Amino acid sequence: MKSIKCIGILTSGGDAPGMNAAIRAVTRAAIYNGLQVKAIYRGYKGLITGEITEFKTQNVSNIIQQGGTILKTARCAEFRTPEGRAIAHETLVKEEIDAIVAIGGDGTLTGARIFASEFNFPIVGIPGTIDNDLSGTDTTIGYDTALNTIVKAVDNIRDTASSHERLFFIEVMGRDAGFLALNGAIASGAEAAIIPEIALEHDVLSELIGNGFRKSKNSSIVLVAESPETGGALEFADRIKQEYPQYDVRVSILGHLQRGGSPTANDRILASRMGAAAIDALMDGQRNVMIGVANNEILLIPFSKAIKKDKHISRELLQTLRILSI
Ligand code: ATP
Repeated sequence: MKSIKCIGILTSGGDAPGMNAAIRAVTRAAIYNGLQVKAIYRGYKGLITGEITEFKTQNVSNIIQQGGTILKTARCAEFRTPEGRAIAHETLVKEEIDAIVAIGGDGTLTGARIFASEFNFPIVGIPGTIDNDLSGTDTTIGYDTALNTIVKAVDNIRDTASSHERLFFIEVMGRDAGFLALNGAIASGAEAAIIPEIALEHDVLSELIGNGFRKSKNSSIVLVAESPETGGALEFADRIKQEYPQYDVRVSILGHLQRGGSPTANDRILASRMGAAAIDALMDGQRNVMIGVANNEILLIPFSKAIKKDKHISRELLQTLRILSI
C-alpha cells in the first residue's frame, strides 16, 4: 500500500452548517500528523478544473463558527461519467494527492465509492448533510443546526398561528427522510409531521381530522417534509381548503433558510471529532469508509452500507408525537 503524504479535501453536494468545522479539523489533524493538505474547490468539479491550492493551519483559522463551506460546493454532472472521473484522476496524479477526504451527502459518497473502486484510490468520507439520511451513523454534520433553525422558525410562526387561530402547514427539507420534520415537530410542539417514510402507509391528515383536530385548540401546526412522497405543504393546504373550508389555513415553506447559519456546538464538536477521525482512519490504512458516530462512539462504515438508504425513522418518536399532540 502506497504511503500517504498528501491529502486532498473537498466539500460536495448541498452545503451544511459545520462543514467548515470539519475542513478545519481535517486540515489541522493532517498537518499534526505531518501530512501536506490540498484544498479542492467546488467539490468534484475542482478535480476536473484543477482548482486546487495548498492549505496551511492559518487557512482554516476563524471558520469554525461559519455556516456554508469555504471550499465552495457544486453539483458536478461530469464526475458521473467515466471520462470525467478519468480527468479527475489525472488531476490527482499531477497534484501528487495520495488520498481524499470527501465531505457531503449520499451523492458525494456514491461518487467517492465509484471513483475509489475504479482507480483503487483511498477516500474517507465525512457525512455532511442536514438531512441525516446516511446509514450507520446516528447523526450527520449540519442536522442539529438545521433542526434548531426549524424549531426557532416554527416558534415564530406559532405566534401568528395562535393569534389568528389558524392552521399552518410548514414545509421543511428532507426529500427522502423525515428526520427534520418528525423531530422538528416534537421539539416545537406541533400537532403532526407528514414524512415520506409513512406518507404511503396512512393518511395523516384524515387521522388528524378524525381525531377531532383543533377541537380543543385555537391553532394548529403540521410539519411536512418536502418530498414527492408527501406532496408538500401546498398540496395539504389545498386539500383542507376544499374538504374543510371552515379552517383558516396557511402555508409557510422554510426553504433555504434551513441550510445556513452558524453551526450549533453539537455540530462543531461532531465535525471536529469526525475530521480528526478521518485522518486517523487514513493513517491506519483504512480506505473507502465513512466516519460515523453511534452511541457517542466514532466508527467506520463502509461506503456501501452508508449509502444504502435504509436508515429507519423511529416508531417510538412517531408514537410520542401522536401522544403529545392530543
Ligand atoms: P445532499 O444530501 O445535501 O443533497 P449530496 O452529496 O447527496 O448532498 P448530490 O448532488 O446528490 O449531493 O451529489 C453531489 C455530487 O456527487 C454530484 O454532483 C456528483 O458530482 C457526485 N455524484 C453523485 N452521484 C454520483 C454517481 N452515481 N456517480 C458519480 N458521481 C456522483
